Amino acid sequence: MGDSEGYTLVELLAVIVILGILAGIAVPVYGHLIDGYKEDLCEVNRVEMARVYGDYLDIEQVDHSAAVFVEFANTRIDGEVCPVGGELSFVDGVVECSVHGDEKGGANDGGGVPFL
Ligand SMILES: [Zn+2]
Repeated sequence: MGDSEGYTLVELLAVIVILGILAGIAVPVYGHLIDGYKEDLCEVNRVEMARVYGDYLDIEQVDHSAAVFVEFANTRIDGEVCPVGGELSFVDGVVECSVHGDEKGGANDGGGVPFL
């Protein structure tokens, strides 16, 4: 065991290079997954918001307008509907997001797995 005093510089460099390659593969994949989750979260929140806003219009006996929708969003909704801060609008009974569109994959590439 006298000659096993540690790793040589070349061995350490090889390990660092391999870790770098693995990180280079993993980061884009997980980044894309996180984008997908954010998009899903935005969609779920928008569907719920559209439902609650419809009830609000019925109960308050008001007609939809951009001003009513903004007032509703500012006073009745806690937290962010869109996790990336997309601007919301209400069109034909659907809440649309300026980042994510009005349905899954509406403004994006469809959320597929990236080709490696
Ligand atoms: Zn969004």
